[in-house]
Amino acid sequence: RLCGLAAVDIIGKNDFELFGEEEGRYVRAKDQVALHANDTYMYEEWVTYPDGNKVLLSALKTPFYDHNKNLLGILGVGRDITERKAAERQLKRNEQSLQHLAHHDTLTGLANRLLLVDRLKQSIKKAERANDGLAVMFIDLDHFKEINDSLGHSIGDQLLQAVAARLKQTIRKEDTAARLGGDEFTIIVEQLENSEYASLLAEKLLLAFKKPLQLRNREITITLSIGISLYPQHGTDTEALLRNADAAMYSTKNEGRNGYSLYTEELTQRAMERVELEYALRRSIENNELELYFQPQIELVSGNVIGSEALLRWNHPQEGLLLPGRFIALSEETGLINEIGMWVFESCCEKLVEWEKAGFRNLKIAINISGRQLLDEDFVGKIRKIIERVGCRAELIELEITEGYLIKYPEKTVIHFNELRDIGMQIAIDDFGTGYSSLTYLKEFPISKLKIDYSFIRDILVDSNDQAITKAIIALGKSLDLKVIAEGVENERQLDFIVAEGCDEAQGFYFARPMPELKFLEYLRNYKTARH
Ligand code: C2E
Ligand code: CA
Ligand code: CA
Repeated sequence: RLCGLAAVDIIGKNDFELFGEEEGRYVRAKDQVALHANDTYMYEEWVTYPDGNKVLLSALKTPFYDHNKNLLGILGVGRDITERKAAERQLKRNEQSLQHLAHHDTLTGLANRLLLVDRLKQSIKKAERANDGLAVMFIDLDHFKEINDSLGHSIGDQLLQAVAARLKQTIRKEDTAARLGGDEFTIIVEQLENSEYASLLAEKLLLAFKKPLQLRNREITITLSIGISLYPQHGTDTEALLRNADAAMYSTKNEGRNGYSLYTEELTQRAMERVELEYALRRSIENNELELYFQPQIELVSGNVIGSEALLRWNHPQEGLLLPGRFIALSEETGLINEIGMWVFESCCEKLVEWEKAGFRNLKIAINISGRQLLDEDFVGKIRKIIERVGCRAELIELEITEGYLIKYPEKTVIHFNELRDIGMQIAIDDFGTGYSSLTYLKEFPISKLKIDYSFIRDILVDSNDQAITKAIIALGKSLDLKVIAEGVENERQLDFIVAEGCDEAQGFYFARPMPELKFLEYLRNYKTARH
């Protein structure tokens, strides 16, 4: 049945008669092997039967003898395993693709975290045996989130694929590129005879990404922040190498992105300090460690103190008084700024009520708002509730928002600002002149004040560029009907310059440093008597 023949057609016939000359010879050759080996011979082979049917046989041939060891013939058994084999092959293919899925990132086809860790383990073993070096590179795309948010996820995905392709083109074949998720990539650089090669490769990568990436309908240029850890100097297991490459990458980000850093011990130290600081900061509100200082703002025509900027201080239990430079960025990164910012806002509202009661009429307060706070969808709602509960006059509140935030999320900002203005508050653009905001936007925002960044005032007497910019900002303010305030005024000659240009208000050490509340109120009382 197997051959497609009836039994009578087979019995008594030899291979040649059955299969024809060529196939017959082939079958005989197999017999010879079994005879030579004097043992059972097993093999798989494709045979074509007389009816033309091709099947895969699992064949077994064994010589058989009589009692006196005389060869009687060859016993052959053939089993058709065509279908079983096909099923097995399919299974194997399925298994392989499952394996592939489990070990690769579906979007880019690069290795995923699982495979990366596996490869890294093997690479470490190899390097250990060969006494070779090894580098782990952590790569994060700069500003990927903004691109993803503004251009959409489909473009974001295309971009990740293009990045993966360019990474693969740039590294050597023996190196492994992986995507750990999001916009984080990793490369294992093997057989590193010279640790300098890792830096060279990093430079090569940065250079390779100078050329725009080609997406379906557009080109995008993106920069990389790279961190490198070396085996064995910076770690001898996967975890340490990955962690330290990550820490090095963060230090690249901190140094302004688009570059690479090698891991150093100091980074771990700094990371640990950060964790401790964050832990303490989380408790700062309930422990009553936060305090507001106030720096007077002076109206230049009248010479009156019209208000103050509230500046945050942290009375750290061990380290003493900390300036915002030490903890605001951290609070922004961790999201703690939302809670802290609300504390600042509420405290300012309370001060407004207390100061009015104490006879300081119409004294305004400028409150710094971090861009991160505005990302909270309910920011305006929370602010409104606080004002209502405390019962302060919203028109005495001015929110200082940096120009950098404005240009990052212009559409959102317009909506938010309109709502804030509807409550009755004023909005000032802080650090103005550093963010290159477009003038069209400026006109659309319901703002009332520009605050010239202190860096321009600082060098205004020596740097003609800073003079030009300051003049331009003041003129711009006039033509857009906005008030202009100069911050960081430290001496009389700086003051003279901005007064001559027609600046409206000023703030700086020349008038007073930021002070605790009681000192500030005392300053106000003395200021009045001194002037009258
Ligand atoms: P900023 O808003 O630009 O605040 C002005 C900074 O300049 C203050 O530093 C102030 O002490 C300092 N300053 C004032 N006059 C002069 C001067 O004549 N010369 C010099 N060299 N500096 C002067 P501070 O208090 O260390 O605050 C630094 C930054 O921290 C602020 O910059 C602001 O961005 C942020 N910040 C402060 N308080 C808060 C807050 O409550 N919330 C948020 N989100 N940020 C805050
Ligand atoms: Ca400010
Ligand atoms: Ca400022």
